[in-house]
Amino acid sequence: MNPSVTTPESSPALPKVNLLGMTRAQLEEFFISIGEKKFRATQIIKWIHQLGVDNFEEMSNVSKALRSKLETIAEIRPPEVVYKEFSNDGTRKWVLKVGENSMVETVLIPDGDRKTLCVSSQVGCALDCSFCSTGKQGFQRDLTTAEIIGQVWVANRSYFEENQDYDSRTRALTNVVMMGMGEPLLNFDAVVPAMDLMLEDYAYGLSKRRVTLSTSGIVPMMDKLSDVIDVSLAVSLHATNDELRNELVPVNKKYPLKELMAACQRFLAKFQADGGRRKITMEYVMLAGVNDQASHAYEMVQLLKNVPSKINLIPFNPFPQAPYQCSSRKQILAFQQILTEAGFVCTIRATRGDDIDAACGQLVGQVQDRTKRAARWQQKINAGEIIRSPQ
Ligand code: SAH
Ligand code: SF4
Repeated sequence: MNPSVTTPESSPALPKVNLLGMTRAQLEEFFISIGEKKFRATQIIKWIHQLGVDNFEEMSNVSKALRSKLETIAEIRPPEVVYKEFSNDGTRKWVLKVGENSMVETVLIPDGDRKTLCVSSQVGCALDCSFCSTGKQGFQRDLTTAEIIGQVWVANRSYFEENQDYDSRTRALTNVVMMGMGEPLLNFDAVVPAMDLMLEDYAYGLSKRRVTLSTSGIVPMMDKLSDVIDVSLAVSLHATNDELRNELVPVNKKYPLKELMAACQRFLAKFQADGGRRKITMEYVMLAGVNDQASHAYEMVQLLKNVPSKINLIPFNPFPQAPYQCSSRKQILAFQQILTEAGFVCTIRATRGDDIDAACGQLVGQVQDRTKRAARWQQKINAGEIIRSPQ
């Protein structure tokens, strides 16, 4: 017998399929491929996402035979929670281990009835915006769909564990914003199925108004996005002329403002059926003496005059070695007033969770320097603060 031929007994077990990142359509295909009825997809998706279950044993309406079959070929594997932190203002942050060496952070921000989860799409980011600490970290890798929806799963599950409320349909979260680490449109193929699960009635059942993708302006992918899924769009504007935007958001050199504004118009035109009420959220970080003068506000009025938009001014969150300071409250209010008087809805984002490095652009606060990060986590582990991942 040829010694290089492996017998079935000696062949290594195939890796198990992770069902966590599969959309309903993909799960239906999966069940058909293993000779089962496609309605199993609906049953399983509810167990995983609505009830936060990560083992087949608990799935009481699935036959024992199918459960054993699933155990041999599939798994429900969320990212491992390495650490979680609660801010004084109710903000929660989870640090999740993805793969062997990478960490991402996801943040839940409660605000009255609204509970918004800020989800990451990549480890680091290649786009290097000058005011963003994620950008300073550089790009490590894309997250998989399971790792992206896994952040929603972890927040949901944590809520159930705290409330001992597995059967209730009360929502652990009401909104998701793809505003964590990374540029979601540069990880399109993993992000879209994850958002599909956020919208899926049998999973998280969020309305399209409550799932927002934030982009720095990857024009061709904005068109592609509106072809395949209907979610809300936020654009990281940050500057109102190309010269300044090239400096703050370098991807502007590839997709300058004129092209970006045209892409926004095309995006809105796709969803005209909504009665034209739809708007794009323009995010604008307030940097003292850089982009916060009255002249910039007037320039913005001109720039956005043909793009139905609402404007969200974001106080700059500093990080070590950041070359900027946040605009004064007075300057932000004056900026807001010009835009409001011009007829725009213009809000100022409340900075939340900064005591736990969970505010916008700070998500990499603990991840930036790998050595320091490891040391800090070791301290927390030693202090018994580290928690176990959900079983
Ligand atoms: N890459 C995407 C989504 C993640 S960034 C994007 O750029 O849109 C999410 C938001 O946080 C963006 O509007 C971004 O510009 C903002 N942000 C980044 N760093 C920040 C900082 N230091 N202070 C305040 N907002 C910041
Ligand atoms: Fe990347 Fe967004 Fe940060 Fe720019 S602001 S570096 S696109 S994560």
